[in-house]
Amino acid sequence: MRFKRHLLLESPSNRDAREGLQMSSPDTHTFKYDPDKEILENTLLNTRVIVFDADFIKALTDSLTKAFHTGAVVILYQMGLAYGELLGRRILETGGLGKQAEGVYRQRYASLALGKFRFPTLVSLAMSGPPTAIKVSLEDSFFAKAVGMTGQPECHIVRGLLEGTANVVFRKDYVCQEVKCASKGDQTCEFLVQLRKPA
Ligand SMILES: [Zn+2]
Repeated sequence: MRFKRHLLLESPSNRDAREGLQMSSPDTHTFKYDPDKEILENTLLNTRVIVFDADFIKALTDSLTKAFHTGAVVILYQMGLAYGELLGRRILETGGLGKQAEGVYRQRYASLALGKFRFPTLVSLAMSGPPTAIKVSLEDSFFAKAVGMTGQPECHIVRGLLEGTANVVFRKDYVCQEVKCASKGDQTCEFLVQLRKPA
């Protein structure tokens, strides 16, 4: 569901009166909760948002693990991958690897509220063709925190997300590994996105 129409139809004064909960960071994103409709939107991206809390993710991970054992990891990774590819297409739609996209992908990732991502700049990355390796860190990962200390990497959705975005944006086949994770005691989670070696 898109919110453009809803926003355009509301006058500023009505909007102020209806705003209720608002969390905003002017340089990144804005969430607006409509207390009448009990819905949340990202006004920067004009998309509706729902909230999965840490308990939900923990329950989801536990139940997938119970049902599919090690397959749970693949399911979570695939969820991230599909969404990452979609994000990649959105980034390309808004200017590809141009400077303008720099802000776009940072905003998209920031608006997921998964933690503090640190990316290298896209422009410098893409200067001499598709990069062979991209290092991304994620501070205070939502998933690591939700699942807790397990002694192994737990941010499978993020791993898929980064891989899917890279596949689409750089039009190559990448593979992403989570090399450090707060769930195994590391300070921050770290991901290495590398060009997939031919089989
Ligand atoms: Zn992690």
